[in-house]
Amino acid sequence: MSKILVVADHKDGEVRKPTLELLSHTRGAGLSTDALLIGQNVKGLADTLAGHGAGTVYVADDASLQYFSADTYAAAVADAAAKAQATQIWISVSETGKALGPTVAGRMDAAFVGDAQGLEIEGDNVTVLRPAMATKVMQKVRFAKAGVKVITVRSGAFDVQPADAKPANVVALPAPNSNGRVVVKSLEQEESGEIDLGDANIVVSVGRGVKGPDGVELVRPLAKRLGAGFGASRAVVDSGWMPYNAQVGQTGRVVTPDVYFAIGVSGAIQHLAGMSGSKLIVAVNKDPDAPIFSVADYGIVGDLFKVVPLLIEEVGKVKK
Ligand SMILES: Cc1cc2nc3c(=O)[nH]c(=O)nc-3n(C[C@H](O)[C@H](O)[C@H](O)COP(=O)(O)OP(=O)(O)OC[C@H]3O[C@@H](n4cnc5c(N)ncnc54)[C@H](O)[C@@H]3O)c2cc1C
Repeated sequence: MSKILVVADHKDGEVRKPTLELLSHTRGAGLSTDALLIGQNVKGLADTLAGHGAGTVYVADDASLQYFSADTYAAAVADAAAKAQATQIWISVSETGKALGPTVAGRMDAAFVGDAQGLEIEGDNVTVLRPAMATKVMQKVRFAKAGVKVITVRSGAFDVQPADAKPANVVALPAPNSNGRVVVKSLEQEESGEIDLGDANIVVSVGRGVKGPDGVELVRPLAKRLGAGFGASRAVVDSGWMPYNAQVGQTGRVVTPDVYFAIGVSGAIQHLAGMSGSKLIVAVNKDPDAPIFSVADYGIVGDLFKVVPLLIEEVGKVKK
């Protein structure tokens, strides 16, 4: 039988949604699952993980773990995986997860597959479904050999189920002595909006159609009113109108919110790679033949400078 270790992603004192998705899925499928918390002052999050299905919660809580470092965190994962006798290690695709997955696999000499969008488990075997060729095809990847498998999983692959009230069975781990090659001393975060794109249930993204920083500011209140994350196409980021951490797409963030607004975005394949998994897509574009309309559930053909103020007004009426 598979034994899964879910590495918890957390931010600002809360477990992030993609981790709850992974635990909800293993709980629903009746899979034996433990979780791992790494960081400083993170013990308090253990009950949340237990409530969503973690049998044992391993906790590496130390001042040296305040900031993410792939080397140091990988040492903690390897320690927990050995104690849990995990056959699979699941890590959500995030800014840190993308670096952690391969580092853990390298350290443990384990197999690695990144960017899973679905997982099929039978006994000890797992088949990973992952998009390839900028989401044009879905690959089914099977592991050729036995041994520990490290898998990073995209957010939105599974739904979050309600938690049980369940105190965690906590096992404290010693601070890893990894002789990390990188020591992070401080962190400065760029702001892409109030809500991190990875955690947002709604995302509003702007494309080159906004024409410049003033256009970005025209759309921003729509994101604010909707309580949405605020993203952008690469054209907008390359033009310096929005920071890189707002970029959605093949070389940016992959988001799978409940609703995705594409405002003045053409829908290039590299952009679709980052958002086509959204549950509902709304596009505003003045060109009726824009490729974004081929993936949109609702399309508004029109000038965004006229349409967006109307949307903001309408959302305001609903929110009152
Ligand atoms: C290797 C590689 C990786 C890439 N990675 C990414 C990535 O991660 N993310 C990404 O987004 N792109 C990526 N790109 C770039 C991608 O190919 C496109 O160039 C980019 O997505 C285009 O951005 P856009 O849709 O904002 O701009 P455009 O393609 O210029 O589209 C602007 C749209 O706005 C519409 N418009 C203009 N004025 C108005 C108006 N007044 N009202 C309404 N609509 C209007 C136009 O009709 C048009 O459809 C990548 C490219 C390569 C080669």
